[in-house]
Amino acid sequence: MRKSEDKYLHKGLRNQLVKLLVEKGITDNNVLAAIGSIPRHFFLDSAFERIAYEDRAFPIAADQTISQPYTVAYQTQLLQIKEGDKVLEIGTGSMYQTTVLAAMGADVYTIERQKQLFDQTTQYLFKDQYPKIRFFFGDGFEGQAEFAPYDKILITAAAPKIPEKLWDQLKVGGMMVIPLDESEEVQRMLRLTKKKDGTSKQESFDEFSFVPMLKGKTQK
Ligand code: SAH
Repeated sequence: MRKSEDKYLHKGLRNQLVKLLVEKGITDNNVLAAIGSIPRHFFLDSAFERIAYEDRAFPIAADQTISQPYTVAYQTQLLQIKEGDKVLEIGTGSMYQTTVLAAMGADVYTIERQKQLFDQTTQYLFKDQYPKIRFFFGDGFEGQAEFAPYDKILITAAAPKIPEKLWDQLKVGGMMVIPLDESEEVQRMLRLTKKKDGTSKQESFDEFSFVPMLKGKTQK
């Protein structure tokens, strides 16, 4: 993250982005308010400062990406985030999605497998505002059993299958939003709700394209 100024110009660009997200079908006002208030340009390299509010993904460190705002809004809306929800996020990346969840009042636990990206979480600029976010370095396929169960689980990388350990860490009545591989390049967004008997109600949504969810964690 990079401390920068948040000027009227940026606020204006954010308002336009919010309008665009509404046109694209985002209706959750809490999602829109979060995106309307978070300075996305802080999460990007200075080279992208002027285009930070375009609805596109951008490269971040370690060959990863910050998700497109529409994708962030879409996944967050599917999760029906409420104040106080305990949310496990897989793929911290730029910490932008993490911040959206925190701004909506969620209690966020987030895991990143790339050491370089995880190390950047110590420089998180909104620590004072969101002191409860917990950042972990690890393999998201393992989840974070110590703090389970979670109300919601959000996977922000392309999953080859539904990670069993994550499913076990979800509360009954809880929801998992997961982009599941349909082919090498395309994922289908699914929302799985955990039923009393431990099985899932599955709902299927649009297609997206994410960076892959990979096993293990990097050394440096
Ligand atoms: N939520 C992020 C999206 C980053 S892209 C953002 O808003 O910026 C997906 C991220 O998932 C990448 O940082 C990638 O390193 C991470 N990732 C992939 N597989 C993972 C795994 N098994 N465990 C944890 N993180 C993983």
